[in-house]
Amino acid sequence: MQQARDILQKVFGYDNFRLNQADIVNAVIRGNDVLALMPTGGGKSLCYQIPAMVRDGTGIIVSPLIALMQDQVDALRQLGIGAAFLNATQDYRTRMQVTNDLKAGELDLLYIAPERLLTEQMLDFLDRARLALFAIDEAHCVSQWGHDFRKEYQRLSQLHERFPKVPRIAMTATADQRTREEIIEQLNLHGATVYINSFDRPNIRYTINEQANAREQLLRFIRLEHEASAGIVYCLSRYKVEDIAAWLCMEGYIALPYHAGLADEDRQRNQQRFLREDGIIIVATIAFGMGIDKPDVRFVAHLNLPKSIEAYYQETGRAGRDGQPASAWMSYGLQDVIKLRQMTQDSDADEQYKRVSHYKLESMLGLCELTNCRRQTLLGYFGEKLHQPCGNCDNCLNPPQTWDATKAAQKAISAAYRTGQLFGVNYLVDILLGRENARIKQNRHHHLQVYGIGTELNNVAWRGLYRQLIALGYLNVDTAGHGSLRLAEKCRPLLRGEINLALRKLERTKKMARIKSGVADSRISARDTKLFEALRVLRLELAKKQGVPPYVIFHDSTLIAMASKRPDTSDAMRSISGVGEAKLKRYGRAFMRVIEQHL
Ligand code: ADP
Ligand code: ZN
Repeated sequence: MQQARDILQKVFGYDNFRLNQADIVNAVIRGNDVLALMPTGGGKSLCYQIPAMVRDGTGIIVSPLIALMQDQVDALRQLGIGAAFLNATQDYRTRMQVTNDLKAGELDLLYIAPERLLTEQMLDFLDRARLALFAIDEAHCVSQWGHDFRKEYQRLSQLHERFPKVPRIAMTATADQRTREEIIEQLNLHGATVYINSFDRPNIRYTINEQANAREQLLRFIRLEHEASAGIVYCLSRYKVEDIAAWLCMEGYIALPYHAGLADEDRQRNQQRFLREDGIIIVATIAFGMGIDKPDVRFVAHLNLPKSIEAYYQETGRAGRDGQPASAWMSYGLQDVIKLRQMTQDSDADEQYKRVSHYKLESMLGLCELTNCRRQTLLGYFGEKLHQPCGNCDNCLNPPQTWDATKAAQKAISAAYRTGQLFGVNYLVDILLGRENARIKQNRHHHLQVYGIGTELNNVAWRGLYRQLIALGYLNVDTAGHGSLRLAEKCRPLLRGEINLALRKLERTKKMARIKSGVADSRISARDTKLFEALRVLRLELAKKQGVPPYVIFHDSTLIAMASKRPDTSDAMRSISGVGEAKLKRYGRAFMRVIEQHL
């Protein structure tokens, strides 16, 4: 363990282990099997990297994320660690080189895709190599219940049969009880020690807005909280992706589109720029993200509603992997609710599947309409209890007002009922407001009692109320696809006046602007901003020269520490978190020079 600590400090430049890293590292060094559940950004990599360096031989890391291997290996080489990868993107000669290095015992770590690892040729080869451990990353891929099932993963149980003496560490950030059991079963990890961490991501601030003008809301959010930050904006359609990206560019940001309709090379290029340059916004369909390991994504914004809390948590989880403050921001509206409701109802899937997706969507909508702490509900959904409100979500920071919506809800529901449950929101709002409308005349609905009884609220407020009534399950959206609203069983007590309905007040746009000071800026004091920017410029230059992402050189948190502590000797530099021996030697002087110039 002493050796492990030395490596942590000298090679990685970190003072202490985090969470239960120390226990996990210790167990693997001793040769035990381990299943480690850690939230994204928790620091899973160190849990196998350090034992692989301490133990004799090479650590074999199985990962499905081929696109990431190059960056992972680059990052390790920056630290002076012998690392390589093997996957289908390489030519024959490169692969030969890697296998030779493995044979010669020059590798501490070898990343490899599961299908390649399980070839007879590779296994033969490993029989003759010295192996420190097997690390199985993204272990939830063995689970059919989970969302990333991969068939080759199930065959990984062979490793244990063939190499019974080599310890295995399986890791994942997704792990409800059921997935966890399946991992143990499928990988034959019955003897493994299981380490579980909280899934909370305390550095992520959750905010969910009712949609008023999505573009303006998004712009205000970026301006106020994330000027010059890297971020991801998720949209539902390709068209919207293009539209929002072009618009953000007009507003002065570097925003790049990413969706399945782009040519491969354009998509690749945009992704590379996002990874390798600072402050780029990627506007994407949910096709984007799997295998994006960029640690300094400062915000994830949704301009549509995810289908489930699982999806929401996974997508927002791409923000702030470096542990620094980050935002998960969403704006959702009536159309989202209607569309998703219809999608789950209309799909050809079997009843069981529909029921599950329905339940998942309900839970997601529940999260949106919530008036108390979002994090408590999020974690509760995953079976974890947070005892206090978090203090870092919109509802905690800016508690929403509620209003007694009983009367208004009765009117809204009556409008649907009196018109035969055949009409959609727009029509019903016109009825309530008593608007002149040819269809209403034609249907003779201007004679109804409900016609014009809702002038106390405006159009926006009525639409908002319908959204909430649908979200909360008082109204159903017709499956036929016309979006007509039908009364759900749940309406009865409400119509009879047996219950009162308190609803979230729609936020005034002005109020949203008052959300606290910028998250991105709050990481750095005003005094240090200039120096931080100068250090970023140097980092980008160095990264470009070597063709690696900037964070591989130093993380933002390391630059922030440099900007505030302003080290002027090697020793002072060494004491900055994230500066190990190899990096000190390579970059120490250059960064100290910028600091000196600045002073
Ligand atoms: P994940 O669990 O998502 O795979 P990583 O292993 O990529 O997380 O780690 C997330 C970030 O936290 C990385 O930048 C890593 O260098 C950093 N990190 C991990 N462990 C520590 C530690 N003990 N002290 C400081 N930083 C750490
Ligand atoms: Zn909260």
